[in-house]
Amino acid sequence: MTQTCPECEGPVQLAEPVRLSEISQCPDCSSELEVTGLAPVTLALAPEIEEDWGE
Ligand SMILES: [Zn+2]
Repeated sequence: MTQTCPECEGPVQLAEPVRLSEISQCPDCSSELEVTGLAPVTLALAPEIEEDWGE
């Protein structure tokens, strides 16, 4: 199925079955998108994962 990127509004292909918390990457803006809902399917920008090595 195809969803709309919340960042650039471009089409993002999702493999079915879509699963919650699945991460997809937008082919247009390279944003990482997380599936945040299934009915209907919603996408949100995935939080940037930063390595935290402590100090
Ligand atoms: Zn995008």
